[in-house]
This record gives sequence, C-alpha cells and structure tokens, in this order.
Amino acid sequence: MAQASTADGARTSSAVPEQSSGEPAHRAEATERGGEEASQRGAERAFSMALTDDQKDVRDWVHRFASEVMRPAAHEWDEKEKTPWPIIEEAAKIGLYSWEGLAQFYADESGLTLPIVNEELFWGDAGIALSILGTSLAVAAIFGQGTGEQIGEWIPRCFGTPEEVKVASFCSSEPNAGSDVSAIRTTARFDEAAGEWVINGQKAWATNGGIADVHVVVASVDRALGARGHAAFIVPMSEAKGISEGVKVSKHGLRASHTADVHLDDCRVPASHVLGGKEKLDERLARAREGRSSRGSASMATFESTRPTVGAQALGIARAAYEYALDYAKQREQFGRKIIENQAIAFTLARMKLEIDAARLLVWRASWMGRNGVPFDNAEGSMSKLKAGEVAVWVTERAMQILGGNGYAREFPVERFHRDAKIYDIFEGTAEIQQLVIARAISGMHIS
Ligand SMILES: Cc1cc2nc3c(=O)[nH]c(=O)nc-3n(C[C@H](O)[C@H](O)[C@H](O)COP(=O)(O)OP(=O)(O)OC[C@H]3O[C@@H](n4cnc5c(N)ncnc54)[C@H](O)[C@@H]3O)c2cc1C
Repeated sequence: MAQASTADGARTSSAVPEQSSGEPAHRAEATERGGEEASQRGAERAFSMALTDDQKDVRDWVHRFASEVMRPAAHEWDEKEKTPWPIIEEAAKIGLYSWEGLAQFYADESGLTLPIVNEELFWGDAGIALSILGTSLAVAAIFGQGTGEQIGEWIPRCFGTPEEVKVASFCSSEPNAGSDVSAIRTTARFDEAAGEWVINGQKAWATNGGIADVHVVVASVDRALGARGHAAFIVPMSEAKGISEGVKVSKHGLRASHTADVHLDDCRVPASHVLGGKEKLDERLARAREGRSSRGSASMATFESTRPTVGAQALGIARAAYEYALDYAKQREQFGRKIIENQAIAFTLARMKLEIDAARLLVWRASWMGRNGVPFDNAEGSMSKLKAGEVAVWVTERAMQILGGNGYAREFPVERFHRDAKIYDIFEGTAEIQQLVIARAISGMHIS
C-alpha cells in the first residue's frame, strides 16, 4: 500500500480499490475462483504480527488525530449529545473521513489496517468516532452487495465532500426486529407501472438515522421467505419522498453519535436502487422459492463482514481506560505508597492488559480471514466481537474501580469509557446472539 502524507496532514494513496467500473477487485476474484480457492489463497498468504512501515504510519497518523482533535472535544460532545459535525469536517479535510481513506485502509491485504484505524479512533473517543465511522456500515452494505455502478455512484455520496460533509445510515433494526432480523416488517413492493420500489415501515435505532444523506434500508420483498426474502435499498434523503426522522434516542453512552427511528411512508425509489440490481434479486428470490440455497439475509451479510472491525472499536475504548487507570495508579497515593504498589491493583492492571491483547489477537485473526476470503467456519468474526465487547465492559469497569470516587465522576473520562463500552455487548449482534452463532458453527446443529 503506497501512501504519503501531504503538508496539511492529509494522506494520499495509490492503492484505492477499483470502485466505479465493474466489480471491486477482491470480490470479482473471490466470485470467480469460488469460496474454496479463495480460502486456499488466503491460507497461503502470510500473516505477520510485525506491522509494516505503512501500517505504523497510518496508525500514528490516526492516533495523532484521535489525541489532538478528538480527545480534547470528547467531554463537550458527550454532554451536548449532538453529532460533532466540525470534527467530522476536520477528519474529511485530512482525508480520514472519505471513501478514498476507507478504501485505502481496506486495501491492505493483511486486513490489519482497518481494525488498527478503528482502535485508534475509538481510543480517542467512542461517540465522536462512531459519528465518523457510522457511515461505514452503510458503505459496507453497498460495497458488499452493490453492483459496480452502485458502488461508484452511492459510496462517494455517503461521505459528501470536505466542503459539505454527509453521513450515511444502515437501517435494519425495527421495534420488533432486533436480534431476530427475520421479523423485519418493513416491506418493499415493486410498482411495475412507475418502475419504482414503494417502501413502507418503521426502522429503529438507526445510527445517523434521519440526518444521513444516504440511508440503506433493509426491507422484505417476500414475507413468506423470511430473511431470504429481504433486500437492501438505497434511499437518498434529499430525493426520496416519504422518508422522515422519528424519535431521537437519548442514550447511556456514545452520546455524540446520533441514533433515531426512521419512518418510511409510501417512500418511492427508482428500480435501480435495490442493492445488487433487480435482476439478481429476482433470481435469488426464485431460487429461495424453489427451496434452493440463497445467500442469506441482507442484514446478516453486512453484520458478518463488519464484526471484527466492531471488535476493534471496543478494543480502542478498553485500551483508553486501561492506559488512564495505569497512569492514575502510578500517581495516586494512599497509605503512604502508590496504589499500584498493592498487588490487588497491579494484578488487575496486568489482567486488563492481558485481556486487551488476547482480544486484539482474535480481532486481527478475524480481520485477516475476512480480508483474505477465508471462511469463518467457527464463527471467528463473532468470536472476535464477543470477546472484545466483553473485555471492553470488564476493563472499563475495573478502571472505574481503580480510580475510586474519581472513576464515578464526570470530570474524569473513565465513567464515559464505561458508558460507551456497554453497547459492544448489544449492537451488531448481542453477546447472546454471538454465542448462538458460534455454537451453531462449531456444532453444525440448530441450537435455539
Ligand atoms: C446505540 C445503538 C446504535 C445502533 N445502531 C444501529 C444501526 O445503525 N442500524 C441498525 O439496524 N441497528 C442498530 N442498532 C440496533 C441493535 O443492533 C439492536 O439493538 C440489537 O440487535 C439488539 O436488538 P434489540 O435491541 O431489539 O434487543 P432484543 O433482540 O429484543 O434482545 C433483548 C435481549 O434478549 C436476548 N435474546 C434475544 N434473542 C435471544 C436468543 N435467541 N437467545 C438468547 N438470548 C436472546 C438478547 O441477547 C438481549 O439480551 C443500534 C442499537 C443501539 C443501542
């Protein structure tokens, strides 16, 4: 991955994956050779724990932004509970918030740059980082399921420009369809006469819901097929009539990130707005109706591909709390000595570091597998997200304990770290659902 920094702190790359003409390189390759060969190819590609100079450069560059721009603003935006547009703009100005930036991180064939970037940004501040990276869930859906044309047209629009930044939203969850994605009630009907899709329903918990320019909405095209009858649609806020923001959620953590309901009332989008194209969707539905295999649900495809990255976000929060607690324990004195000189504190810090490093190994393994087309036979993506989420919750709670009363006070960041960490047991598949996925994968049985 060839990269260079410019004078204003921006980075440039010559390794942006093909986006506007045809299939992106890695997907075309995987489809052509089939899963087995892709797996073989992945297994042959060396995995190294020693970061390359490029990876270290990106890590340090993102870390600088996290420490100089995000950290100082974290408390303020947490209190305001508003999307930190000025900070997203800063990130856009240096190329950190852009399709080219994201594509450059993804282009690293080891798969490590993307989790490294996520860890550093979430180390800076989780609420602001989700405002910056929330867009990437919609981007992952378009990139993973869209045609070359859709990728070229819609992904850049998810980001806007540094002068006019935009965000995107992935809308799958509904009031009665959270863990159970197959229960989605939002429908999409094709109006043959108008050549348009008509979408009706209510989405819940959408990150950037209602404030995004591009919404990727998962809807049922054929209810009888359950999740196999789902498809994802691009709904641009500025053009589509019938889409509106519902109630904004007031949250425990990640308060700088916007979460809201989205309503779709006879919302019309052109035929070309179904991800993957209508022809492919019709073929897939026909296969499913005949009882032949189809590639699973539109939501699950997106969640599976992003799980290791979400694990990396949890790691960033855990590391922030661990580092803060370590420094604090080395300074705070009680009973005439530093509190770290008590084994109870020192051993806790040792275990915090151990758990973070162990979780990172799972995240990096899954990221490498995902990037190299190695199938998650044992649900390694879920393993990484489950472990990192649990570690983040445990580490941030222990960090509060090490700070004593200060751990509970808003003047110190550790209680915010803890509030932010809890979501990693819940979104993109709860801890229970990850265990279900792992249990099914290792047993081959239908466990419910
Ligand atoms: C801050 C935030 C941001 C979010 N962003 C998005 C977004 O951008 N897009 C989006 O589509 N969604 C988003 N979500 C929704 C999120 O993915 C869901 O909250 C999550 O999937 C859980 O669904 P639920 O809240 O309906 O809980 P439920 O599914 O009702 O689960 C409740 C409890 O029951 C447990 N449970 C359920 N089924 C089982 C089972 N079979 N076995 C054992 N236990 C079970 C769960 O683990 C959980 O503990 C977001 C949520 C939050 C809080």
